[in-house]
Amino acid sequence: MIESTSGIASTKDVVEELRGRSAFVMVSHVKPDGDTLGAGLALGLALKGLGKRVAYFQQDGVPRNLRFLPDAELVSRRLPADLPDDTLYVFCDMSDWRRAGEYLPPVDRANMLDIDHHLGNSLFGKLNYVLEHECSTGSVVMHLLRELGVPLDERIATCILATIMTDTGGFMHSNTTPDALELAAELMRLGADKEQITEEIFLRKRVGATKLLGRVVEKMRFEHGGRYCYSYVDDAMLEQTGADGEDTEDMVNTLLGQEGVDVAALFKAIEGEIRVSLRSSGRINVQAAAGRLGGGGHFRASGLTYRGPLPDAFPAVEAALVAEGL
Ligand code: AMP
Ligand code: MN
Ligand code: MN
Repeated sequence: MIESTSGIASTKDVVEELRGRSAFVMVSHVKPDGDTLGAGLALGLALKGLGKRVAYFQQDGVPRNLRFLPDAELVSRRLPADLPDDTLYVFCDMSDWRRAGEYLPPVDRANMLDIDHHLGNSLFGKLNYVLEHECSTGSVVMHLLRELGVPLDERIATCILATIMTDTGGFMHSNTTPDALELAAELMRLGADKEQITEEIFLRKRVGATKLLGRVVEKMRFEHGGRYCYSYVDDAMLEQTGADGEDTEDMVNTLLGQEGVDVAALFKAIEGEIRVSLRSSGRINVQAAAGRLGGGGHFRASGLTYRGPLPDAFPAVEAALVAEGL
């Protein structure tokens, strides 16, 4: 197997690897989004079309708003007991295999394929197919589907379009390149259900979620001359509004959307864990800031898990942002 000097595998090498294996486990990251799931489901559909065996591992389960994705019902924490030894584990949309969570059985590096678009991917696989300039991991997968030469049906198209719409925030973020829009148009022509994706992922909200957003907005604080906005969610707020952790997914964008704000943070202290979502308007690199606290992501969107009490998390994250130029 020839790898380029950059450590990034070529499309041909990855496709050769895929053709050489008989069974696959598509692995998505904890607290999954439309990109990690859609990318794995699309590639899984294509591989099944080639007669391969495919299973899907996901530690936390499929969120309500992604259950419409084709084959989502096959995604599970439990893996079949009779998978062959040469099963290839395909990690989608994660900068390190540990983002798959602690329930994934041990996997040898020789059986790991890393497909991603994050900055700072740890290149943990036997092959690492990491294209940082792609808007989503699904659009990375698209290169493999073309090289495989499989027919692209409306189910595959819907999965890939869901990855693009998820990671571009419905074509709003700065990663919405002409290439991303052209690919989206191609996918719609193949039958991708854009209306369903829009409805399920972006429009439909539970009443409890909207009430929770109200609480998050009430608790917004502004620092650094109004350039930094942060807020939080805790178990009590979920209890009071009838919302749950899934309902918090895109709330950090409301914080970033406030006039004058360059950087936003939403602290989610839920069930004994503090997950922090960071978003930037483009001036501050929040991937680097999250990296200082063991997290990662992209220049404008990143996250981390803070180990310690919530009152300590606020100054720790602020210090990391200040170190990156806030
Ligand atoms: P989120 O705020 O959870 O939507 O995540 C934003 C981005 O940061 C996504 O690209 C995630 O994959 C990444 N990210 C979130 N949490 C972590 C973490 N603990 N470690 C590495 N990357 C993360
Ligand atoms: Mn993701
Ligand atoms: Mn992604």
